[in-house]
Amino acid sequence: MSTDRYAVVGNPIAHSLSPDIHAAFAAQTGESMSYERIEAPLDGFVRTVEEFLGGSGRGLNVTLPFKGEAAEWVGKLDPGAAFAQAVNTIVEDPAGGYVGFNTDGPGLVMDIERLLPGRTGLSVLLLGAGGAARGVVAPLLERIARSLTIANRTEEKAQALAEKLDDAGYGAVEAAGFDGLGGGYDLVVNATSAGLAGGVPAIPASAVVGAFCYDMVYGGETAFIRWARNAGAVDCADGLGMLVGQAALAFELWRGVLPEVEPVRRALAAAGS
Ligand code: NAP
Repeated sequence: MSTDRYAVVGNPIAHSLSPDIHAAFAAQTGESMSYERIEAPLDGFVRTVEEFLGGSGRGLNVTLPFKGEAAEWVGKLDPGAAFAQAVNTIVEDPAGGYVGFNTDGPGLVMDIERLLPGRTGLSVLLLGAGGAARGVVAPLLERIARSLTIANRTEEKAQALAEKLDDAGYGAVEAAGFDGLGGGYDLVVNATSAGLAGGVPAIPASAVVGAFCYDMVYGGETAFIRWARNAGAVDCADGLGMLVGQAALAFELWRGVLPEVEPVRRALAAAGS
């Protein structure tokens, strides 16, 4: 019997930790599977996916910049992916075809529940209004946020996302630019890509004073974490737990077993990821 093949598709993809994470999950659960990185040409996502899944591939993760294209390609979207219009996990549909899921948001919430156990009803500030932000807003509101402020460098995008949440029946959402942000937040989540170039979103220090700050970028003490600690955050975490959490939820969708996140997150953190 051949081994079931899975992969992550992106561009660039060489940096992806997903193969290490899924290899650890497979060893932990005794599942027989392989998991590889695939770099799709920027104009060749659909061709790459159809080649893989039309051959021996059983499922895919999708990362930048293809999550939107993946949402268009799959035949069906689960509600979270439909809201975000972004798919990070492609799963075979028993009825035929494929279903797209977005496990980023639930992965983030899972990590915040680890870091702030038992805390709900939080006042949350989300920085950014791109694909990652779209994937996390609904799970944040459903599970841990009492109120949500979405602040983005380009304020109109924050407003559009807040309106979309309002249309979907989520209350207690505000939109803002970075200037003039106040304070009093319990949790600040950095979902901007400023950190990929070593930068920090230009928000006032008041926004993080007394808050727990979570950076979706991973790598230990990120630029945002260093800035937030200096600005008065009570504590900080990077996005490694979210990365491992979204992978665990994808693994469960494919294999029907939820692996343990914490040993894998700890091992990667100890190895400097
Ligand atoms: P995206 O769709 O390209 O959106 C980028 C966002 O960052 C936009 O809101 C953009 O604001 C903002 N931004 C970019 N440069 C900025 C700067 N210098 N200052 C302030 N804001 C800036 O990207 P994405 O898919 O949302 O990804 C965002 C981040 O989340 C990335 O760093 C990604 O690696 C990370 N992520 C992590 C995980 C995980 O598992 N840990 C999962 C998903 C994503 P404008 O609208 O003004 O351009």
